[in-house]
Amino acid sequence: MSGNESRVQAISQIVNRKLMPAQPPKRLEDMWATDVFNLSKMQASLPKSIFKSVKNTVQTGQTLDPSVADVVAVAMKDWAISKGALYYAHVFYPLTNSTAEKHDGFISVQSDGSVISEFAGKLLVQGEPDGSSFPNGGIRSTAAARGYTAWDVTSPAYVMETDNGMTLCIPTVFISWTGEALDKKTPLLRSIAAMNKAATRVLKLLGNTEVAPVNSSCGSEQEYFLIDSNFANSRPDLLLAGRTLFGKPPAKGQQFDDHYFGAIPERVQVFMQEVEERMYRLGIPAKTRHNEVAPGQFEIAPFFEAANVASDHQQLTMTILRNTAKKHGFVCLLHEKPFAGINGSGKHVNWSVGNATQGNLLDPGDTPHSNVQFLVFCGAVIRGVHKYGPLLRAVVATASNDHRLGANEAPPAIISVYLGSQLEDIFEQISKGGIKDSQGRGIMNLGVETLPIFVKDAGDRNRTSPFAFTGNRFEFRAVGSGQSVSGPLVAMNTILADSLDWIANKLENDLANGTELSAAIQTVLKEVMDEHGAVVFGGNGYSEEWHKMAEERGLANLRTTADALPVLKAGYIEDLFQKTGVLTPVELESRYDVYAEQYLLAIEVEAKLVGSIAKTIIYPAAVRYLSDLSSTIAGLKEIGIELSKTTAEKVATLVKSMMDTASKLSDALSKHDFATTEDHMQYASQTIRPLMDEVRQYADALEGEVADDLWPLPTYQEMLFVK
Ligand code: ADP
Ligand code: MG
Repeated sequence: MSGNESRVQAISQIVNRKLMPAQPPKRLEDMWATDVFNLSKMQASLPKSIFKSVKNTVQTGQTLDPSVADVVAVAMKDWAISKGALYYAHVFYPLTNSTAEKHDGFISVQSDGSVISEFAGKLLVQGEPDGSSFPNGGIRSTAAARGYTAWDVTSPAYVMETDNGMTLCIPTVFISWTGEALDKKTPLLRSIAAMNKAATRVLKLLGNTEVAPVNSSCGSEQEYFLIDSNFANSRPDLLLAGRTLFGKPPAKGQQFDDHYFGAIPERVQVFMQEVEERMYRLGIPAKTRHNEVAPGQFEIAPFFEAANVASDHQQLTMTILRNTAKKHGFVCLLHEKPFAGINGSGKHVNWSVGNATQGNLLDPGDTPHSNVQFLVFCGAVIRGVHKYGPLLRAVVATASNDHRLGANEAPPAIISVYLGSQLEDIFEQISKGGIKDSQGRGIMNLGVETLPIFVKDAGDRNRTSPFAFTGNRFEFRAVGSGQSVSGPLVAMNTILADSLDWIANKLENDLANGTELSAAIQTVLKEVMDEHGAVVFGGNGYSEEWHKMAEERGLANLRTTADALPVLKAGYIEDLFQKTGVLTPVELESRYDVYAEQYLLAIEVEAKLVGSIAKTIIYPAAVRYLSDLSSTIAGLKEIGIELSKTTAEKVATLVKSMMDTASKLSDALSKHDFATTEDHMQYASQTIRPLMDEVRQYADALEGEVADDLWPLPTYQEMLFVK
């Protein structure tokens, strides 16, 4: 079959495919959390005292009383079995952005050969998956493989339905035999604890007598692409790298903006409905869905939840999106830049902190200038983002996100804070030495009698900012679509903990010296603005001027992962994580090693693919075309017709350039003697990547010359527009 035949066949499969019938929507109440062993199910099945103990741990973070585990385990098992589960799994989150699980049966063989279902407390609380193949950055040698999973009581267990039946899933942390964190959950829990401690200190200093535990909240908007699997399966680059390494932009891209917020295609709507139903059953509050900017691109966002639960739910959401897509004949691409020249996908991580007694601590209220509590917490964020901006850049640094950041569709690699005009004005008043008032919110009169008059938000949105205040939370917009939200949440909680501690120290000192509270607060906020105000920026983050201005302000512009990841090795970052107790130096270093290795591997895999696709798929198509052309030209010449050789010459030149560059790339890949990992990363970013791009340029130019019926790869036009 020639390339084009397989393309034609794919198109006909898609056009003639029978739509999966949409199930009539169920009532939310009938679906909600049916598959979750949540507090209300525990209450129904546990003795009162046991339930109280578990609830205490979940709600106030108190250490779990070990004696309750056996009772909870039995209730959990009975519930899971009633849902059809035969197996349970400790679910954990290794450093790869993926979700890992090891399944064990409830089966227990008795001495007489009969079997019973059994699940003891110790199996609930602790597991020992070997897991030696997970990257650990040298913390464990493969020989010393012992790693433990430990039950995270604060994230509810659930049953997960797959084609193989139901499995009871227990969220856990994953640690080494020596006690070091090997996963993304452990530091997240520690960062929440550190932030809680520092926030409580500040809240008490501000005069609050009753202070409930402070937690962070997260609501993440997930962007993704859906591509028909008939196309995706005939593109090795999509299958192995999750993005197209070749492909000429179609005549029509996203320039008409006709996909953004447009009517959701029927087939996609059916898919979304199933995704949402599965999410609801797992207690994940899916809330919004819409078409995104690029053709074939969509977004889903849940209602926000406590950061730890939100992070687990985000992992589940990615799994559900991928699995459900398969059932509907799609491949769900969570890569940050699947198609060159078309907007990529991000994950906006909305983040705030608050508690049951003081509420959302980042809610400015109607008169923010007089809301001291808000100003202190917001000031703490400003300081943190300035002082640790490079860390925020480092936690979103991946090979795939590099294609998106700074590409005028996503925030630049320069980390700044957008406050909106009202807050910017207030913080400017603070740096001038006194706060007087808040700008009014203004009334919007639409000039049409039948339309309501409405009050404007205090600040506009700024989609060019990587870190924007959006009314009652910050939105970290530089996070990649395929990433776990945990790393960004750890960074935000930790820098906030550090800033709040710094503020608490200052306040304590001033108060001890007899300064009045309000004067002490003004002083500390002024110091924040004097030292860190440079990070506040309300203009166009995509513009050239900002790049220049940011440099003058001393803000780092870490363009690539190779530039950004080494930040994790800096002394001040090590200090930050050590003093907050979030990561030990050994744990931090191991993370650097793992992330650097993943970066190098990602580029290596792609580079190899570029070489093999160029040589074995594109080259044969191009020479077939050349052979057609040359015999036609020769044949015509025999009967006295001169056909121009321009196309043949052009194709021949492109083929030669493509193959020469592919050889150069393959030579470049054989270099292995690097003094340091940093050198290796720079080499990947500065030498390998440009060579890959160059091969692609020739190949994409060939796509514009070679006869369409010989072109072997599904085109951008087909993948993005054939529905
Ligand atoms: P938009 O596209 O306008 O930014 P969306 O409604 O798509 O907004 O997503 C906003 C996300 O922010 C949602 O997940 C929402 O629940 C979440 N969110 C709202 N308030 C808070 C808050 N106080 N803390 C954390 N997340 C929040
Ligand atoms: Mg948003």
